[in-house]
Amino acid sequence: MPSCLPFVSNTSPPDRQQWIAALQAAMPGERVVALESLDAAARAACDVAIVANPRPEDLRTLPGLKWVHSLWAGVERLVTELGDTQLQVVRLVDPQLADTMAEAVLAWTLYLHRDMPRYARQQAARQWREHAYVRPQAKTVSLLGLGALGAASATRLQQAGFQVCGWSRTRKALPGVQCYAGDGELLAMLRRTDILVCLLPLTAQTRSLVDAARLGALPAGACLINFARGPIVDDAALRDALDTGHLAHAVLDVFAQEPLPQDAWQWAHPRVTVLPHISGPTDHGTASAIVAANILRYRQDGRLPVTVDRAAGY
Ligand code: NAP
Repeated sequence: MPSCLPFVSNTSPPDRQQWIAALQAAMPGERVVALESLDAAARAACDVAIVANPRPEDLRTLPGLKWVHSLWAGVERLVTELGDTQLQVVRLVDPQLADTMAEAVLAWTLYLHRDMPRYARQQAARQWREHAYVRPQAKTVSLLGLGALGAASATRLQQAGFQVCGWSRTRKALPGVQCYAGDGELLAMLRRTDILVCLLPLTAQTRSLVDAARLGALPAGACLINFARGPIVDDAALRDALDTGHLAHAVLDVFAQEPLPQDAWQWAHPRVTVLPHISGPTDHGTASAIVAANILRYRQDGRLPVTVDRAAGY
């Protein structure tokens, strides 16, 4: 009898079924089942679960749980909701996700670099006016966060010819990337940045990190891309910086409230491009294969993959 692997999620039933099918195909030796289909005795026997936006009360029905594997890269909600339990959390680290995100970073950087929002405004006003071309080598794109997604994006931007900077908590060494580390070095990076790309996790330290002072440190006419989490950017400060024209444009894929409410100011702001959280979608196939490999290794020798630092929040 294969061991039982509960899938704990509050996503829609079709989405849940799609995930269970992909995970089951990747783990023929396991029995991947929706938590709801397990009775109390079966739940008590589970030591690992796969989770996607789980309700904390559902996890509490699994008394023997040692760790959970999240299907998402960002786990701030899970970490917060688990409170002071000892449960270990493994998040998704998928090279395919990093590649997809790097593609999005390059696409929207080029959108800003080649002045597409400005030409769209001109078209709406039937204006025929060309603006000087600037080579990518003359532009600096800076990444907040040099983790799995930030590092892959840095490489892709470099290949496209941009000058690339990156900022992280601990110092990194990436070939061709000017690396900055810690709060003390952030302003120096911002002062030389033309396009700022946010790929930080949301933690107590990064909430509202991109505030009025830091936006003010960017050169006039700089742009922002937020592909991480909405609350990392101070909304009011961002709106002010866009209204005054200090920031030329913001591409926002993530928001404090999602879906973005109908009356949100971002929808109609001429200097904002709104995206519906699509920059880094998870691939069911590659994600399931990674989860399967991690769980198989654990079943074989009891070793857990790298777990989230619950104190740091990522
Ligand atoms: P990661 O591998 O954990 O990397 C996080 C990076 O942020 C690391 O370089 C880390 O520094 C840095 N960092 C964290 N706290 C910091 C602080 N206080 N000061 C300076 N740097 C700090 O995460 P990832 O896999 O790249 O993912 C990043 C985020 O992207 C996720 O948390 C998620 O929110 C978001 N995401 C969005 C989408 C989407 O579709 N929009 C999709 C996937 C993920 P160290 O290297 O020194 O630890």
